[in-house]
Amino acid sequence: MNVGVLALQGSVAEHLKMIQSVNKKIGAVPVRTIDDLATVDGLIIPGGESTTLRRLLDDFNLLVPIKERIAAGMPVWGTCAGLILLANRVEGELPCFSLLDVDVKRNAYGRQIDSFVTEGDFDGMYINMVFIRAPKVTRVGDGVKVLAEHNGEPVAVRQNNILATAFHPEMTRDSRVHRYFCNMIESKE
Ligand code: GLN
Repeated sequence: MNVGVLALQGSVAEHLKMIQSVNKKIGAVPVRTIDDLATVDGLIIPGGESTTLRRLLDDFNLLVPIKERIAAGMPVWGTCAGLILLANRVEGELPCFSLLDVDVKRNAYGRQIDSFVTEGDFDGMYINMVFIRAPKVTRVGDGVKVLAEHNGEPVAVRQNNILATAFHPEMTRDSRVHRYFCNMIESKE
């Protein structure tokens, strides 16, 4: 099994390392081209800057091929900026992939200096959650399951093959959310 990490900008190396720490037998593949994309069974869209990532997705001709793969059922996990790119609606902006039935508001937890770490339940696992200029999920559609909350607001959601977290599990030493994503891929195969 190969897990791809979109490698245009953002926390790419951290995700690749985490995937390898889940199981050495799983391939962790940086994805920059359509050929890279063809080799992976699931894709992580990392945190970074969603406006930059979106431009680069266009420049690297990856936007449409990735959207098609996700729509065809490939498991995908967006962290932070990745969540923004997957969302159906982004306050004040045009959406990007528009495949996940949630609305988001960018930078809604404040500026860089307001970044914080908290703890909470993710689908029955108690984990650390690192928030860095994170978006808020302001609406969750009927087919979307909330996997984690912070102060009563959703911070991790899942809709079938699409997982999204407002926080950054790759910034911790705990690979259980990466394992959860690998299980999503495995159970699909
Ligand atoms: N603030 C960024 C954005 O709006 C997301 C930050 C992150 O991915 N850590 O795109």
